[in-house]
Amino acid sequence: NQFGQFNLSPEIITALTAIGFTKPTPVQAKLIPSILKGNDVVGQSQTGSGKTHTFLIPIFNQLEQNKAYAQAVITTPSRELAAQITKAAKDFSEQWHQDAIISEFVGGTDKLRQIKQLEKGQPQIVIGTPGRIKDLVASGALKLHAVKTFVVDEADMTLDMGFLNEVDFIAGVMPANLQTLVFSATMPEKLKPFLKKYLDNPQFEAI
Ligand code: AMP
Repeated sequence: NQFGQFNLSPEIITALTAIGFTKPTPVQAKLIPSILKGNDVVGQSQTGSGKTHTFLIPIFNQLEQNKAYAQAVITTPSRELAAQITKAAKDFSEQWHQDAIISEFVGGTDKLRQIKQLEKGQPQIVIGTPGRIKDLVASGALKLHAVKTFVVDEADMTLDMGFLNEVDFIAGVMPANLQTLVFSATMPEKLKPFLKKYLDNPQFEAI
């Protein structure tokens, strides 16, 4: 398996083989090594490029399963996109054969139920839309103080939909030494201040 060229655990390679991934896509080849080193990255890539696994693979590789709190947060602007990422994460987790607690939080779902669920235990990987994640953090239910990796998926659409305040709030409760990964189909000028604010000397790849 050509993913063996990266510094990934044998269990991750086995899971990749099980889901049928034997060769990294260009965005994965360019960015996975950099993400594994802890760098911030910006990936300008479209859906279909393999960008979802570009961030999921390193997140699973560095997950500390014995720690029952959120270690990675992935925001995406729509419920449909959140559902796709959650499915990819759960499918991968199943083949990894190691437990990972993955929760999806999007608008239009039962918030009180989510708060009650969070009182019983915190997920390790959070996937959702910025507004709902913000609400759960603001209510004190979701705790993001020990997150290591923050992924802003579809950053251009996130800006267009006016979710920047929510992303700001979420980023504000996470540790200062956070690793931030931004993916965007386009790189409009108005995205630049956003990148400047969140990223520390990022590797930029347009693929
Ligand atoms: P994405 O761009 O993340 O939406 O991925 C597009 C499709 O490519 C999804 O169906 C992925 O499961 C698939 N995919 C991603 N990476 C690989 C890979 N390295 N090998 C084969 N399929 C992949």
